[in-house]
Amino acid sequence: MKVFENIELYKSFLKKPENKNKTIGFVPTMGALHLGHISLIKTAKKQNDLVVASIFVNPKQFNDPTDFKNYPKTIPQDLQKLEGNGCDLVITPNEHEIYPNPEEIDIKTLSDLNIEHLAKTMEGRYRAGHFEGVINVVQRLFAITKPTTCYLGEKDFQQLSILKKMAQKLMPNITIIGCSTYREEDGLAMSSRNKLLTSKQRESAPLIYKTLTKANEIKNSVEIPELKNWIETEINKSPDLKIEYVAIIDNETLEPINKWNNNQMIRCCVACYAGKTRLIDNIPLIN
Ligand code: AMP
Repeated sequence: MKVFENIELYKSFLKKPENKNKTIGFVPTMGALHLGHISLIKTAKKQNDLVVASIFVNPKQFNDPTDFKNYPKTIPQDLQKLEGNGCDLVITPNEHEIYPNPEEIDIKTLSDLNIEHLAKTMEGRYRAGHFEGVINVVQRLFAITKPTTCYLGEKDFQQLSILKKMAQKLMPNITIIGCSTYREEDGLAMSSRNKLLTSKQRESAPLIYKTLTKANEIKNSVEIPELKNWIETEINKSPDLKIEYVAIIDNETLEPINKWNNNQMIRCCVACYAGKTRLIDNIPLIN
């Protein structure tokens, strides 16, 4: 596995004649890697000639400076995991390379792409500027890594939807693949932030997924507003968890829905706090 701290060296590597026509599967990450990230690497490995991962904790997508400061950083272990799972190339750029001064590429905003509406609900409502920061950095990472296909987790469902739309509009030759959420045995969605939980919070956190799966089971007997209230009440029963939002949305438009419709693909998304650590999860609601 080749690790490039310097993106110019990565670009020269790709220009070598033997690498020119290779398919590139790209997995962008912020490091502190777990089996969820590794599942994306494994899927990319099956479908591409080269698998490229990036490790870059993007300051622009953090609305809370303390969250940015506390974000776990484990680069040596990350590199071992990537190498052990067939990743071919890793870029670990610094902030100056990603955000050069003067700017090297023309970055489009959510409003340039006419997709602000997708960023206004759920995460966007509670994390001002988050998705602007996400689409900004991903445009830069795509310009560097030149992927054929990019692999993203359904765990961050709103991010996946926004990046799919961004790619369709801006770089339709890049395919975006959504990969299912990888979970701990007790159902907790794997997340780099799980490392920040106290042991008591960690014990309580599986209640999130347990409640979502139960909600899917009981959905046919309740209306949507009641179901949302029920989810909120169940999760808040734990003294360690505090719901920020529960959203029941259309899979495509991300619009909240208030009435069941059999023809609609529906997802239930939640965000909650365990102490100062913010956790998100979602599942499709299916019959
Ligand atoms: P992050 O490092 O948190 O920015 O995540 C990098 C990528 O890994 C994103 O596409 C995430 O959606 C994805 N990811 C994070 N957690 C999981 C998980 N538990 N299962 C699958 N993909 C995940």
